[in-house]
Amino acid sequence: MVIDPAQHCLPDPMGLTHAQWVDACAHLPGGRVEASVAYKKLMRDADSSLLPEPYRNRSPWLPVVGEQRSMGPEAEGETVKVLTEVPARAEGVSHAEKRAYEEGRMLPVESVVIPMLGSTGKLTHTLCVSSQVGCAMGCEFCETAQMGLVRNLTAAEIVAQWHTAQFTHCRNTGKTIKNIVFMGMGEPLDNLDNVLQAISVLTDNNGPGISPRGVTVSTVGRVDGLRRLREQCLKTGWRRLGIAISVNAPNDRVRDAIMPVNRKWNMAQLQEVLIDFPRSGNVPIMIEYVLIPGVNDADQHADELVEFVRPLHCAVNIIPYNPRRDSPWPAPEEADVERFANRVKSAGVFTKRRRTKGRDQMAACGQLGTQHIRGRKMIELTTGETDQA
Ligand code: SF4
Repeated sequence: MVIDPAQHCLPDPMGLTHAQWVDACAHLPGGRVEASVAYKKLMRDADSSLLPEPYRNRSPWLPVVGEQRSMGPEAEGETVKVLTEVPARAEGVSHAEKRAYEEGRMLPVESVVIPMLGSTGKLTHTLCVSSQVGCAMGCEFCETAQMGLVRNLTAAEIVAQWHTAQFTHCRNTGKTIKNIVFMGMGEPLDNLDNVLQAISVLTDNNGPGISPRGVTVSTVGRVDGLRRLREQCLKTGWRRLGIAISVNAPNDRVRDAIMPVNRKWNMAQLQEVLIDFPRSGNVPIMIEYVLIPGVNDADQHADELVEFVRPLHCAVNIIPYNPRRDSPWPAPEEADVERFANRVKSAGVFTKRRRTKGRDQMAACGQLGTQHIRGRKMIELTTGETDQA
């Protein structure tokens, strides 16, 4: 359970860097020295039963309510969706959150542990974390969009997804999470303050110690948020942060239709903010392109995509569409994925294609989101109420 600061007069270590935590706890018995020891033990899930009060037995993980497994290639093993919960608050920002509070229900959070077999044959594990419960962005191809936005997650709740996955699920299987991707439920740039604070904690060497290069923020391309992120990436240590942009369309006409964010910031504005985005070394921006049959998979679309990315220091990642529930589109044929990827590649653009993992458990890209909340959303719509961001 995440520490409740009001109840225990303690800040939540998941939401603070080591330096911030030590400052916040300096007035407690044991002062800065014991606060420092406690932080490292709590963050590394060492036995905290021997810690002095008020730090003793404060287990900072989220309650796990389920796991869903999906087998990948034998060499990699399974993709695991870890289902956890956070409280609904009385002052909720959406009808769905207020209703959950009144009914005494918790809100679902989903994270996915994904095995990655590197080119050298080394197996590592990446954790896909959620930054919000639900999402306000409304992308047509996305399961989470069906929920609407329920609420933002705090920095502590984001970091607690790592702690929970690492020390509950992974502890028994000997896995270590090396990379974090913000590709779960929610649009990270819609909750940027909490996401930036969570990254500061996750990359703190006195805490989780994830390499900044191992953290990737994936966004639909909110241009206002990208401008802020650009400023952040000028700061020491942030240039290596991974940036992924879900472009998913060859032109404004298609993007307007499948990604409402494009009606506010079009592709020219998106391209402009990405040119000269601060990067260290050769770390490119990743341009994500979900390939949807009959929507964005024509040869001409590949050529338009090439024109969009040409001025950028980027790589293109082709992602075969994972049909959401009640999807109007099927998954693409393998031959079409190859054709499209090869056409982009042959124009001189560094191109990868993602192998789909976890599709059978709705744990693949764009498939996070629970049926329960989606049901609520439909009830609210039929009674004339709507969610608000
Ligand atoms: S793809 Fe991402 S931004 Fe779009 S609705 Fe889904 S979670 Fe939100």
